[in-house]
Amino acid sequence: MNTRLTLRAEGDIPTGRTSILPLAAGEHLRIVNHLGQQVLDTWAFAAANLGEYLSMEQCRGRLYKLFFEPGDLLLSSLGRPILRFVADTSPGRHDTLCAACDSASYEAQGLSAAHPNCTDNFRRAFAQAGMAVPPVPCPWNLFMEIPISPDGRLSDRPSSARPGDYVELAALIDLLIVCSPCPQADIPISGVGRPPRGLRWITLSEEPSPGS
Ligand SMILES: [Zn+2]
Repeated sequence: MNTRLTLRAEGDIPTGRTSILPLAAGEHLRIVNHLGQQVLDTWAFAAANLGEYLSMEQCRGRLYKLFFEPGDLLLSSLGRPILRFVADTSPGRHDTLCAACDSASYEAQGLSAAHPNCTDNFRRAFAQAGMAVPPVPCPWNLFMEIPISPDGRLSDRPSSARPGDYVELAALIDLLIVCSPCPQADIPISGVGRPPRGLRWITLSEEPSPGS
């Protein structure tokens, strides 16, 4: 049977906070960088067990690469596939190495420890949703470009994601997708001179094609 994708819901991923988006098994989530260049710290948790989450180290070790591509099955901390990377229209890479920014990282940068940060936003979102706050895993830093030199050193450069570029993922189990537009603006990972911005999300479900 042929299927087609049908729009199910859509909304904003506002800046300044973390969003928790339920995604049922079989559904697709499109994360749209509608304004371009904005980095999005992204996590996925098994809806039935927050102790199981999308694991960058499991993915890197099993896929044997630092950057994931459409067609890849992304693994949980228990080593099972929980997401399929369906599509990516952006030209950039999506960092899999860097921890979410936190008060300590801004202090180390010489800024105030009170600087808004993805880690506090993550914890606040779970607390406000009345859920137990899980440990903060290494995020999948969508649209964040961290070039790696041959000697293993990292650098950073502004995201090359264009307005409207998107990443599409399909859930293999019921998930909570957790997204935090990164408020880091002093290091211009989200564009030179650009304040933190939100993104958009779209969920799609697979429906039988007419006549199939
Ligand atoms: Zn951040």
